[in-house]
Amino acid sequence: MAMISSLPPVQNFIGGQFKRNGQSQLDVFSPLDGQIISSLPLSSAEEVNDAVQAASQIFPEWSSQTLKERVQIFFKYRTLLEKHADELTDLVHVENGKTKDEARAEVLKSIELCEFAVSMPQIIANEVQEVSRGVECRIERKPLGVVASITPFNFPNMVPHWSMPNALVLGNCMVLKPSELVPLSAMRIAELLKEAGLPDGVFNVVNGGREVVEAICDHPGIKSVAFVGSTRVAKIVYKRATSTLKRCLALGGAKNHLLVLPDAHPEMTANNVVASMSGCAGQRCMAAAVMVGVDAVQHIIDRMIDEAKAVVPGKNLGSVISKEAKERIERYITEAEQAGAKVLVDGRNTTIPGKEGGYYVGPTIVDYVTRDMAIAKEEVFGPVISIIRAKNLDEAIDIENSSHYGNAAAVFTQSGGLAKQVIERASSGMVGVNIGVPVPREPFSFGGWNESRFGVGDITGRSSIEFWTQSKKTTTKWNPEDKTNWMS
Ligand code: NAD
Repeated sequence: MAMISSLPPVQNFIGGQFKRNGQSQLDVFSPLDGQIISSLPLSSAEEVNDAVQAASQIFPEWSSQTLKERVQIFFKYRTLLEKHADELTDLVHVENGKTKDEARAEVLKSIELCEFAVSMPQIIANEVQEVSRGVECRIERKPLGVVASITPFNFPNMVPHWSMPNALVLGNCMVLKPSELVPLSAMRIAELLKEAGLPDGVFNVVNGGREVVEAICDHPGIKSVAFVGSTRVAKIVYKRATSTLKRCLALGGAKNHLLVLPDAHPEMTANNVVASMSGCAGQRCMAAAVMVGVDAVQHIIDRMIDEAKAVVPGKNLGSVISKEAKERIERYITEAEQAGAKVLVDGRNTTIPGKEGGYYVGPTIVDYVTRDMAIAKEEVFGPVISIIRAKNLDEAIDIENSSHYGNAAAVFTQSGGLAKQVIERASSGMVGVNIGVPVPREPFSFGGWNESRFGVGDITGRSSIEFWTQSKKTTTKWNPEDKTNWMS
């Protein structure tokens, strides 16, 4: 981790310049060892306003370029992401605490998101039709103006790429507010966009916490807000942004259920369930949180125990984000145990020699969880899976349906008919069959249901085109000799 000592202080990126005024600041820690690695400016409404002014100034020029012109910059930017993949991987590893392999996967996913954005000219062709003799109707997609993106801690590189490339190639200018826990990747993204030739002001970064988010929601110059984070904050942002008549898409938290049937392939199922719950230390909105074991699945649970024991903190399991997160996760496990659940694999009180200041929780399997326990209902966001036993598939689906979240669900079975029942009846936006992390890859779009998403549409893929644009409908007649009809 040679990088840690050389990380720069975080600055805002406004109008193509890195700036740090006299704001108060916050320390940035690496969760790997608890060391301070940088500091962050706690910006205010003033910096948000500066960023909106810079973005508004360049918007007429940027939006008047053709789509084919704008994507050229993202071809170059994609190449830069590839060229700097090692360094970007290290940055995610250090600021977020996930393993290097997981950090690299995140950077590769950002590259894939750029590939979708550069294909936009192939995807968008405006609609045109002669609707009556000599009269033509045309629909074009136009950008909204200045838009904003507010992102969480768990994917410092990828989640900004859910919104930024599509919004910008479609002609918008953006203000990004990264999580104050992981602000370093966003600074590097800004530098690489500039190197790729993005005009100053098209992309801006304002760092800070709640005050910045509130200023974004309130600013009259911002047309739309994409938010990704917890359900508690998603509700606040959705209400506040829409109260000032902005478009808003706010993705919230999750409690994903994996339904395991007795005929499931034991090895593959155990491996997938454990990888889903422990990958990125369980800090994925697509992570398995509850395994619903239907009928006789003890043989699969036994294999899960072996799989979990092969997941070693500090080696193939990263840290959780903070001391508070570690305490919260361990509290859920302890409370479940006190309420009668059985801890089969216990990740509490994990420390790594040489990194005693880091925040680690080992993989944890909690069996005989009941539906009323907090660990069964609330988002734990750690490498922990609760097992709830169900008598039959109807009961298992009822357990899944009763969650107020609805990001992902999955079924493990070798029966197509039973899988189909789960696909039809799960109350989740993304469903997997024999796959523990059913993230739809580009061009398929990403988004949950219920309290995992507020607003209309999904954040990536084709669905995002609607969110980042407005349609202009033009009706034209050029031949005056044509007879007047009811359209004249
Ligand atoms: P968070 O809600 O605490 O923070 C998200 C953003 O909101 C940050 O930029 C933060 O600065 C800001 N914020 C925090 N409190 C605020 C407040 N009171 N008012 C205004 N802004 C505030 O989320 P997090 O802890 O950074 O991320 C983890 C959460 O994100 C989990 O719940 C996870 O499920 C969710 N998540 C969801 C998805 C999805 O696609 N649905 C994807 C990734 C993460």
